[in-house]
Amino acid sequence: MLKVLLASRNAGKLREFAELLPDLQFVPWPVEAPELPETGAFFQDNALQKAEGARTWWHQHGTGPVDGVLADDSGLCVDALWGGPGVLSARFAPDLPAYGDKNRRLLAMLPEGAPRRARFVCVLAFAGMGGGSFTVSGAVEGSLATTPRGEGGFGYDPIFLPAGHDQTFGELPSDLKHTLSHRARACAALRIHLAEWRE
Ligand code: IMP
Repeated sequence: MLKVLLASRNAGKLREFAELLPDLQFVPWPVEAPELPETGAFFQDNALQKAEGARTWWHQHGTGPVDGVLADDSGLCVDALWGGPGVLSARFAPDLPAYGDKNRRLLAMLPEGAPRRARFVCVLAFAGMGGGSFTVSGAVEGSLATTPRGEGGFGYDPIFLPAGHDQTFGELPSDLKHTLSHRARACAALRIHLAEWRE
C-alpha cells in the first residue's frame, strides 16, 4: 500500500480523500508543519507548489518514510463572476469566517438575471519522494442554487447544483457526490497515473 503524505489541513478534503482513495495510506500534514504557500495564478501552479513544498519540508523534518506527497488545489468557478472565486475560493470573503455567510455573499454578487452556470475544479499534484511530480484534474459542471441548501459536505457544497440534479452537494448523500465530483474525477485519473508511476 502506498504511504502518502497529504499536504492539507482542510478537514472536508481529508475526509473525502480517505473515502475516495481507500487503497492509499495517508499521513496527515503535521500540526507543527508550516502553512503551505499557494501564490500561483492557476490551480495547477498551486497544487504543485503545495506538493513540492511539502516534499521539501518532509525531507528535512519528516518522521518516517513516505512514498510521496499529495496536494489538492480546488475551487468553485462561476461564469458570471469571470471564473471567480476560482483559485481564490479558500480566501473569498475573509471577513466572513463561516461558509454559510460566504455562500450568501457569493450568491448576492450575482447580477440580476445573470447565467448561474458554475463548475467545481480540482487539480491534484503528486510529488514522489525520490523526485518528479505530476498533476491530474477533474471538474463537475453545474449551476448555483438561489439559496444555500443542505448540511452535508463542506465549503460551497450547499450552493452548487451538479448538472442533472435538483439537489445541492450539501443535500445529496456523500456517496453520490463521490460518483460525480471534481475531486472524485481527479482521484480516478490519479489512480491511473499512480499505477504507471509505480512501474
Ligand atoms: P484550496 O484548494 O486550499 O485553495 O481551497 C479550496 C477551497 O475551495 C475550499 O476551501 C472550499 O472553499 C472550496 N472547495 C473545494 N472543493 C470543494 C468541494 O468539494 N466542496 C465545496 N467547496 C469546495
